[in-house]
Amino acid sequence: MSARAGIIVTGTEVLTGRVADLNGPWLAEQLRQAGVDVGYTVVVGDRPQDLVAALDFLAGARVDLIVTSGGLGPTADDLTAAVVGDWQGRASTPDPELEKRIAVIVEELSARRRWAVDPVAMAAGTAKQALVPDGAEVLEPAGTAPGLVVPGSPGADHPPVVVLPGPPSELQAMWHDAVGSPLVVRALAGRAEIRQSTLRLWDTPEAAIAATLRRLAEDLGDLEITTCQRGGELEVVTRHGVDLVERYERFQAAVVEEYGAAVFSTDGSTVDDIVARLLEKRGLTIATAESCTAGLLAARLTERSGSSAWVRGGAVVYSNEAKHDLAGVPVELIERHGAVSEEVAVALAEGARRELRADIGVGITGIAGPGGGTTDKPVGLVHLCVCGPSGSLTRAPVLGGGRSQVRARSVTTALHLVRQLLQDG
Ligand code: ATP
Ligand code: MG
Repeated sequence: MSARAGIIVTGTEVLTGRVADLNGPWLAEQLRQAGVDVGYTVVVGDRPQDLVAALDFLAGARVDLIVTSGGLGPTADDLTAAVVGDWQGRASTPDPELEKRIAVIVEELSARRRWAVDPVAMAAGTAKQALVPDGAEVLEPAGTAPGLVVPGSPGADHPPVVVLPGPPSELQAMWHDAVGSPLVVRALAGRAEIRQSTLRLWDTPEAAIAATLRRLAEDLGDLEITTCQRGGELEVVTRHGVDLVERYERFQAAVVEEYGAAVFSTDGSTVDDIVARLLEKRGLTIATAESCTAGLLAARLTERSGSSAWVRGGAVVYSNEAKHDLAGVPVELIERHGAVSEEVAVALAEGARRELRADIGVGITGIAGPGGGTTDKPVGLVHLCVCGPSGSLTRAPVLGGGRSQVRARSVTTALHLVRQLLQDG
């Protein structure tokens, strides 16, 4: 059986949505890789009683390990270490050596950032961060705050709690030490690995895969399968123990047989990975001329480092003038067919390819909304064209959702057209 864990994300800024939670999902994935099943992620504000309630809830749910994020800073509203120490029934005492190490870090940081800090306030903050609950293991600071692993106390039936800082880069830097800490290793000893495999399908409705799952139900057994539709892609994620590898392989083969080329990834690769790999392997370059997405495709293509080897550049051709001036689209063509038309998408793709001397050109022109739609050309209508040495592909989906979803889905659709063009020839 695999171990179970609960995550507590603290921070009023996360609870209220001002900051999107990066730590819960990141920790869940790390725990899975460590063979730990995450049963719950609880988000609480910076209120001690809510943190205690979350700890009580997870202990009641009998998890083997609790991981918290946030609230380890030097200020009074950073309460996690003290609250967790109290909850485990462990008094906190100052660790003078740790206090010195934190002081050095804070001084260096203040000098680098040219902060004028009040030495008294700084010393108070440092002293607070160097309070360690009895019996806890200290995780060395990645920023200024140390993390902790606080064991359960003999009296209460509590699991150990790993206490990590809120800033995602600090939390991530500390994770390696946290999973390696003797208390955590002991809590998770003898637990089995959990595999997670992802199938990605393009242009396949969730209802279709649901029918497939029903048909295969008998053979799926204990495979834990979840499907998620997003941006035109369908993700089928399966979690299973190592003993079910063959069963999973049969399931994957059945899906590939039924959906054929719609299954564009079986190894976790994203469409971005695949496009980058194909362009790099073939030594081809790409350029874009984007109207309604105004550079979002170029931004996505350049998200990975090293992409200058295959991305030539892109033109934001929002106005008709820019379509003419930057991508060489004839004014008469726009007048005759309208800016949102297959003809203009093709001219944009060819223009991008020609003007930026790339092997592959991509043109996108559409009505992102919410205004500007007509009966003939509704909001969400997007004309896309990808052209290259071996031919071209066009497509004109009517995409759903608000303005930003239409734009994001246009980019994903364009990437799939590039992938198809590259895979077809
Ligand atoms: P600090 O010393 O910076 O106060 P801390 O351990 O007390 O660190 P918090 O005060 O909870 O952590 O958070 C500090 C900052 O880190 C937040 O303002 C936020 O920008 C970021 N942060 C915290 N928690 C998360 C989270 N779950 N997801 C993304 N960012 C977060
Ligand atoms: Mg803080």
